[in-house]
Amino acid sequence: MKMRKKSDLPSKTCPVCGLAFAWRKKWQRDWAQVVYCSERCRRSGTPAAVSASAKPAADK
Ligand SMILES: [Zn+2]
Repeated sequence: MKMRKKSDLPSKTCPVCGLAFAWRKKWQRDWAQVVYCSERCRRSGTPAAVSASAKPAADK
């Protein structure tokens, strides 16, 4: 059996803090929509006009 190397995971660069972040299991369903490395960056990177109508998603 093959082991997955950490470097095999897809990664993106957060536009807010500029750091690269790797794929996480919690994003397996919506990796395509993931833009920011964290909730904190996501909030600070979201335009006010959009966040006004956005509902807080259940974050388990
Ligand atoms: Zn970030």
